[in-house]
Amino acid sequence: MLPIFKSLEHNCLKQNAEFHGFDGELLVDNPRDPNALSNVFVAAGESVGLPHNHDFNAQEQFGLGIYNVTQDTGSRFSSYAAFVKPIMGRKNLTVLSEANIQQLKLMDGRVTGVRLTVAGREQVLTCHHEVILSAGTINSPALLLRSGIGPSAELIAEGIEPVVDLPGVGKNLQDHIDGMITVRSPSRRTLGISLANAPAILAAPLNYFTRKRGMLTSNYVEAGGFARTRLAKDQPDIQFHFVPGYRSHRGKLVEYGHGYAVHTCVLRPKSRGEIRISNTGKGFEIDNQFFSDPQDAATLVEGIRVARSIFSAPSFDSYRGVEMLPGKEVQSDDEILEYLRAEALTVYHPAGSCKMGTDDMAVVAPDTLKVRGIENLRIADASIMPYLISGNTNAPSMMQH
Ligand SMILES: Cc1cc2nc3c(=O)[nH]c(=O)nc-3n(C[C@H](O)[C@H](O)[C@H](O)COP(=O)(O)OP(=O)(O)OC[C@H]3O[C@@H](n4cnc5c(N)ncnc54)[C@H](O)[C@@H]3O)c2cc1C
Repeated sequence: MLPIFKSLEHNCLKQNAEFHGFDGELLVDNPRDPNALSNVFVAAGESVGLPHNHDFNAQEQFGLGIYNVTQDTGSRFSSYAAFVKPIMGRKNLTVLSEANIQQLKLMDGRVTGVRLTVAGREQVLTCHHEVILSAGTINSPALLLRSGIGPSAELIAEGIEPVVDLPGVGKNLQDHIDGMITVRSPSRRTLGISLANAPAILAAPLNYFTRKRGMLTSNYVEAGGFARTRLAKDQPDIQFHFVPGYRSHRGKLVEYGHGYAVHTCVLRPKSRGEIRISNTGKGFEIDNQFFSDPQDAATLVEGIRVARSIFSAPSFDSYRGVEMLPGKEVQSDDEILEYLRAEALTVYHPAGSCKMGTDDMAVVAPDTLKVRGIENLRIADASIMPYLISGNTNAPSMMQH
């Protein structure tokens, strides 16, 4: 798939041409003004044996560094900006926003149309050729289930007439389960709201709008990387997302005062959850089943220990305040696990709920991404990944298109 990744990318950093593209639509850059603490995190890693990795997308994933971002001179550069906006003028393209697909209409093994609401009004669009569904890992299977494509017995139990019996729809749900360490800091060099920091905050919009520089260009998780716990075999089994500002565990996005935090996630989770239809097709349930495989819990406990060792490195000495979460009283495996069971969430990388493959649980064919048993329906989104990739899922989702 490397040639496809390269064809999408417009690398602004002149990174290694073996792994990067320079003529694609998607701008790839580095954060323009990473916070000082992001560099401290990378330096701290070096003192605990994690090398400075200057390109996570090249030969070696292992190590800490500053992440690439999809930005255009300091502003977010979305998939819409890269791939859709430039072609909005095409005569054969109609984009309906505020459109909510309710159901696929099927007849004799073909999709004949989609039922949708646009600004609250119901419509039906007829399909003469084919439909490519890209509603994401939660909504693609939910739409299939609502349309009668899925495990027959479960559909019947919810009062939905099965059209195609596909037992794998909604199953195999995976995500990167993640726990945080949050630390207060006496230093106002971290991103934070305080009286002492007020002049810098007030100057930030001017800096951003006139020079595209400063703290408003931050993507918030500028640094991070990949490491091995003592349970890993060869490849990294955990990933870090470092936040150079204080935040409670997924509480408010921004809190008063200064600090820093790190998300640690399990890169190759073994637990599998599912998306289930409920309320006679009107709703659905997301059941992640996190930690249903004990290996995931053990890996994350070890991951928290690795993250703590980075935060204990001398580079953090002049920035370190009190560890708020899990807190210094949380030390044994059982205590860390109890904290994780209460607080762990995800880094928003759901995948796998319409997996490609050739086994009985496969939903789409690997060579065409066509839904089994339906002639003219394909899926292209994170739901088709049979295994969650060991990294961030945005670029691999774009790559499928
Ligand atoms: C808060 C957050 C932060 C993230 N940060 C990163 C990151 O830093 N790096 C990274 O690599 N990945 C990140 N991800 C993950 C990344 O965004 C996803 O993996 C990626 O967007 C998945 O693409 P997709 O096409 O599968 O689904 P989506 O991007 O979710 O696209 C699905 C689209 O379908 C639309 N849709 C759904 N149902 C319907 C319906 N019934 N009718 C009409 N439209 C519908 C949705 O509105 C949406 O536009 C993040 C995710 C989140 C939520």
